[in-house]
Amino acid sequence: MTSIAFIGLGNMGGGMAANLAKAGHDVRAFDLSPDALDRARAAGCLPAATAAAAVEGAEVVVTMLPAGTHVETVYTHEVFPSAAANTLLIDCSTIDVETARRVAAAAQTKGLVAVDAPVSGGIAAASAGSLTFMVGGSDSGFERAAVILESMGKAVIHAGLNGAGQAAKICNNMLLGASMVATCEAFLLAEKLGLDAQKFFDISSVSSGQNWSMTSYCPVPGVGPNSPADHEYQGGFAVALMLKDLKLALHAAQLSGADTPMGAQAAALYQRFADQGQAGLDFSGIIRMLATKD
Ligand code: NAD
Repeated sequence: MTSIAFIGLGNMGGGMAANLAKAGHDVRAFDLSPDALDRARAAGCLPAATAAAAVEGAEVVVTMLPAGTHVETVYTHEVFPSAAANTLLIDCSTIDVETARRVAAAAQTKGLVAVDAPVSGGIAAASAGSLTFMVGGSDSGFERAAVILESMGKAVIHAGLNGAGQAAKICNNMLLGASMVATCEAFLLAEKLGLDAQKFFDISSVSSGQNWSMTSYCPVPGVGPNSPADHEYQGGFAVALMLKDLKLALHAAQLSGADTPMGAQAAALYQRFADQGQAGLDFSGIIRMLATKD
């Protein structure tokens, strides 16, 4: 049993903290939301009055916060002053690569060990304990983190040094955003050409256009395995979150000098869809906007 402080008990963190408690760890949980704290208590965690109080005496600190600014603020003002030497800090939030590297370097100067460990998989996977973790950090940091992350996921992969987990996450999601848009376009063109959607799926899913957005998450209702398209694009991975990750990817591309025109185009299209009031819809719902030529 490990003593774990868990900070950020939202859609994702709530289920993750519950799984750590279920695995027998001593979980001291904190969130700004009293409702989230109540849910954590019901799931077997011990609510703390502040983030700093949760961190005191913990061997491991897990954070699952909205963005880089939250992570840096919580680390600087709550975690660093309260964590004992050699405490392992695991940030599972999706944040920008520079902030991940900056907080890890700051942690190291304070005698702490930090890894970035963003996740693939949504709210259902967080509750079911079937997330994929992509981890950036030292070999020894990864080995310590893997033991904890295995209680919350089905796969834990060491991506490289600090920041590599975030790099893997945003590159993957940029690819996902662009491939979803391209898949939607292909289905819409097929329709205009009089090609049946199911026939196109049968052919393309075993041909060179095959990709995850088509075969596992088809944006056309009634085609392929069950997906948000079969539920009016409710649930799944929200447009707002896809847009957040695309913006992180574009920011990283700008800083590193990478040319990502397809990523930029995907971001512009998802921004337009969000601006139409669709930020809460599943990201495959962008097929509705693409179907309406303006
Ligand atoms: P969320 O908004 O539901 O949860 C964030 C929680 O952090 C909230 O409960 C909020 O009260 C809390 N919080 C904010 N500032 C705090 C502070 N200073 N101290 C303590 N608690 C604080 O977000 P989420 O959907 O759980 O996402 C969390 C992270 O996971 C994000 O970085 C997101 O990009 C990433 N992610 C989300 C999904 C998804 O499907 N929701 C999938 C993969 C990755």
